[in-house]
Amino acid sequence: MAGADSVIASSGAANAYRNAGRGLTLCAMSLPVPNSLSPSKVSSFRSCPLAFRFSAIDRLPEIPTPWAVKGTLVHKALESLFWNAAPGKRSLAAGLESLDAAWHDSQDDPEVTGLNLDGAGADTMLREATKLIENYFSIEDPNEVTAIGVEITLEASVEGTRLRGIIDRLDLDQDGSLVVTDYKTGSAPRAGHEQARFEGVNFYALLCEEALGIRPTKVRLVYLKNPVVLTAEISEQSLRGLRKRTSAVWSAIQRACVTEDFRPKPSPLCPYCSFQAICPAFACTETGGSGEAGARGSGA
Ligand code: SF4
Repeated sequence: MAGADSVIASSGAANAYRNAGRGLTLCAMSLPVPNSLSPSKVSSFRSCPLAFRFSAIDRLPEIPTPWAVKGTLVHKALESLFWNAAPGKRSLAAGLESLDAAWHDSQDDPEVTGLNLDGAGADTMLREATKLIENYFSIEDPNEVTAIGVEITLEASVEGTRLRGIIDRLDLDQDGSLVVTDYKTGSAPRAGHEQARFEGVNFYALLCEEALGIRPTKVRLVYLKNPVVLTAEISEQSLRGLRKRTSAVWSAIQRACVTEDFRPKPSPLCPYCSFQAICPAFACTETGGSGEAGARGSGA
């Protein structure tokens, strides 16, 4: 059995962290830096660097969740509605048909099969997704929208950082300017907390400017659950701040890769984390430790 001074020369992240909890020593080794940054990766690193490492660098599998599957279904249904139905034909019935088709096409998807839904679970999933599509039609008439693209993948290099993102929908406003629309299937923010939610969609506006050479004038968050639309104007100042913050996150990721130092950051998100079983912070609290993760993770 390895002693306290043993060094793990090379091992998977899961074993390395399990062994770290048994008093072994991890040697510093440079980890591969991700090829690009997306809004979700930026958000993941900020939320918890260790969860980011497990997902974006070690590429450990994540547990499928009903809310992620529902979000994917609704995004696919709205993508199909705009792609396959011309203006004037984009009715609620067409939207629900698109949802049915997306559900049918997803039956062999590991994200869906991994949920092991029974008949009642599948009915609940479809009922809730249907409600989100109905809500969409209550806040926007898709026949009035001039969409010039849906699910557009854009990449650009910004201050040495490779940025990548998939834009739900890019629209032409009545004055010919570009508008970025992002669908959200989670809850809308409380009053006074809206600004932070724009970071991801502002990132898409930055990508448009860098990749297409045109800066969108507005970004929109379409919350389908509540339902409500939040809109913000894009300014040079807002994009300048975003460039700096993104560059700072990229530098922090590079430093963490060199030092192999991705620290756990316990938060109310821990109960939904796929990596609880191999997270030293979460394991500590499960065994009665005083870590912050357990207090929050147990819902206290
Ligand atoms: S359980 Fe919490 S602290 Fe641990 S990796 Fe997941 S999010 Fe981070």
